[in-house]
Amino acid sequence: MSKRMIDCPQCGEKAEWSENNAFRPFCSERCRLIDLGAWANEEYQIATNTNQDENDFSTGDEPGAREATPTMH
Ligand SMILES: [Zn+2]
Repeated sequence: MSKRMIDCPQCGEKAEWSENNAFRPFCSERCRLIDLGAWANEEYQIATNTNQDENDFSTGDEPGAREATPTMH
């Protein structure tokens, strides 16, 4: 029974693909967190841009529209 080895997608190190490796397909918790962090950042930026675009399309004809938008502190 041979161990199945894979390349860590984050750092390229050999990692064991087995139930013993809770971080598969990564070699370690550190690499897994780095990858998750990159994803979270990307999604956050996309969401922020989308919100800004929607705000730009608002007509602003209603006097209360500006007050309804969340203010940045
Ligand atoms: Zn790694």
